Amino acid sequence: MKTYQADLHIHSKLSPCGSWDMTPHRVVERAKTAGLDLIAICDHNAAGNVGAFMEAAEGTGLVVIAGMEITTSEEIHVVGLFPDRESARDVANSVQSTLPITDARYASRFGEQVLMDPAGNILGYEKHALAMATTFTLEETVSLIQDRNGLAIPAHIERPSFSVYSQLGDLPRWMPFDAVEVSPVAQRPIGLREKFARYGFPMVGSSDSHFLHEIGRARTLMQANGASFRELEAALRKEEGRGVDYA
Ligand SMILES: [Zn+2]
Ligand SMILES: [Zn+2]
Repeated sequence: MKTYQADLHIHSKLSPCGSWDMTPHRVVERAKTAGLDLIAICDHNAAGNVGAFMEAAEGTGLVVIAGMEITTSEEIHVVGLFPDRESARDVANSVQSTLPITDARYASRFGEQVLMDPAGNILGYEKHALAMATTFTLEETVSLIQDRNGLAIPAHIERPSFSVYSQLGDLPRWMPFDAVEVSPVAQRPIGLREKFARYGFPMVGSSDSHFLHEIGRARTLMQANGASFRELEAALRKEEGRGVDYA
């Protein structure tokens, strides 16, 4: 058993708010420099760049998990992590079927949504308005993710926007979350993280990077037998001495 370092919430330029620097090869390079073993690419309501990141990481020793950050109808952000890119793609198709198509003014207001190859060349632009909320409730979103054997993790739970805390006033402890995600230290309201820690969910730390320099600024320390989706799942369930902590 060894400690692996993971950053399970990183955006690419497919997210309208993502930086143009968030290309597959540059993110992989930066993650390696930051000492990470495992990253998850989580664009807003989309997973179209996940395959390019997996290919960019081949042979580098960095493992890329297929992820997504879904906006529920309550405007809560939920990270879904998936065992493979096909599951992520299917869930992305479901959530995008509830989103409007972008109009001429969308990109100037929210930003471009760029599909890329591993080298960062532009393959096209996503037409669904990824910045909008889906029609899936929090409960439906968790089911949608878990029905495809994914891990459902409410994002940045103590942040004052787009979180369970900001939208519901609390962390619903009866929901079957696989883990909950805390934000980088700078965004922590005093006492809230400690309060939510008592609810008993495994806690992961993620950077929610939209820019290269943010990668690894928060991380999950995973006690496991390898860096993979399966080992992460086992660590969240504390199987055979595995576990997670955050830094
Ligand atoms: Zn978010
Ligand atoms: Zn995010």
